[in-house]
Amino acid sequence: GTLPDAERVRSFLNEAHVRYAGDLSGEVADYIPALAGVDPELFGLSLAGVNGAVTSSGDARVEFSIQSISKAFVFALIDQLVGHDTIRRSVGVNNTGLPFNSIMAIELNDGSPMNAMVNAGAITATSFAPGNNVESRWEFVLDGLSRFAGRDLVIDDEVYRSESANNGRNRAIAGLLNSYGAFSADPEETVDVYTRQCSVRVTAEDLAVMGATLADGGVNPVTGDQVVNASVCRDTLAALAAAGLYERSGDWLYEIGMPGKSGVSGGLVTISPGKGALGSYAPRLDPAGNSVRGQRAAHFLSGALGLNLFSSL
Ligand code: GLN
Repeated sequence: GTLPDAERVRSFLNEAHVRYAGDLSGEVADYIPALAGVDPELFGLSLAGVNGAVTSSGDARVEFSIQSISKAFVFALIDQLVGHDTIRRSVGVNNTGLPFNSIMAIELNDGSPMNAMVNAGAITATSFAPGNNVESRWEFVLDGLSRFAGRDLVIDDEVYRSESANNGRNRAIAGLLNSYGAFSADPEETVDVYTRQCSVRVTAEDLAVMGATLADGGVNPVTGDQVVNASVCRDTLAALAAAGLYERSGDWLYEIGMPGKSGVSGGLVTISPGKGALGSYAPRLDPAGNSVRGQRAAHFLSGALGLNLFSSL
């Protein structure tokens, strides 16, 4: 099947925006000033089809730092490089049942990074980025993220600086993984690249196009660029289904029925394989760190557009 026509998509996006724009539940992330200071009322929705049509509602062109949503796309870039089996063996594809920055999850699993959608696995995935130094590894990551978005993405320097001054926990995670022998790259340099990837500026429209690239067998439907292979998209969507919304991934799958990935700045991407993807931005988060309005809009749109993968009707 395909998405409904552009007119219906537009009216459902507008309806979702009206429905949830008054929802004040959740809290904006406050661990760095750059996130704590955002307008909590910002709310953007965008849907990109595999035919390249992009439809938006609200603040869909407002930039924010991509944060953990980068994990999904860096996973894909690294899977493309090292392959399905190495990912499963060296990173993992299971859910931890614990928060995204859990150290206990590593300890409980004998040093396994568990999966690339939580910090331990994401930092491990980033450690595979090719290059001889931070700059060349970073160039690989930024270039790959930009190809998913179909435009040259840039880093938010303020976010990068405050994240760097506050990433003791991620450095501890990398140090712990390194002590288990899980790292081939330098752990401090790897956390630096990971911190940069989290600080990349995107919009809800970018997220929709990035997600639609995963929905389209790795071809960016706007630029026509083959960013990764179709098999990589399959791997990535499976990893997202298991852990894209951290310890709430089961609830998410039960309600929305599609792979998704959230980030602590309030972004969310939801992928409908073969059809397209929804990108959203709304900064108030639930206790697991997932955008409240984003989840509600995805739930509504999954039903309205008939996107639940488990539906046989
Ligand atoms: N930069 C954040 C971190 O690594 C991203 C976390 C997130 O979006 N959940 O802690």
